[in-house]
Amino acid sequence: MLRRALRPLLTFVMLLTFTCAGTALTAGTAHADECYTWGRTLSQGASGEDVRQLQIRVAGYPGYGAVLAIDGQFGPATKSAVIRFQQAYGLGADGIAGAQTYGKIYALQDADCTPAHFAYSELNNCNSTWAGGAVSAATARSNALRLMWQLEALRHALGDRPITISSGFRSYSCNSAAGGASNSNHLYGKAADLTGTPSYCSLDLEARYHGFSEILGPGYPGHSTHAHVGDQGSRYWSASQCGI
Ligand SMILES: [Zn+2]
Repeated sequence: MLRRALRPLLTFVMLLTFTCAGTALTAGTAHADECYTWGRTLSQGASGEDVRQLQIRVAGYPGYGAVLAIDGQFGPATKSAVIRFQQAYGLGADGIAGAQTYGKIYALQDADCTPAHFAYSELNNCNSTWAGGAVSAATARSNALRLMWQLEALRHALGDRPITISSGFRSYSCNSAAGGASNSNHLYGKAADLTGTPSYCSLDLEARYHGFSEILGPGYPGHSTHAHVGDQGSRYWSASQCGI
């Protein structure tokens, strides 16, 4: 009896929710996101902070062996990255960031701007302040944010299976304790060691498509028990047991 009475009410509420969501997406600026809200459609030729924010979110989609510049300039590389992001999530792939693309980003990002499946705490099991590394705490955190969006793309490409991070940002003392290289990208918040499933080689091989210029794994000294991915500027990939 109760259930029968509730059903039309529920349908009405769902309809209302759907209508509101639709209106918000059409209006664009009406959608208030806790982290960041884009106020205009972005396409090739645009520039500004909103482009830079978009570039961070699509940094994991630069194409094989490439790294997307986070420079606030919407050029051909940004357009290609937006297209790959759109394709990855089944959206219309036109390379223009509008309501659909922002809607997907809003759904993916948490209030602190990290992607849904990664958190600052996961990228830092060294100290909570992000201090003591090779760069300021603020820089280390912003490097880690970009890294997390790349990891989100990697995770999605590997079938949305959880990825475990055994080490991310390290202060100099944490890096020494871990036996890291003296110029390790972990000191910059630019590197992560991945363990668990998928296999280290699956992670390393797929990472080549998601903006990681530094990939180390099985076959590289000291990397038989994890996949190390990061950004070191010029490309350095070495995991001979994975064929890299
Ligand atoms: Zn590492």
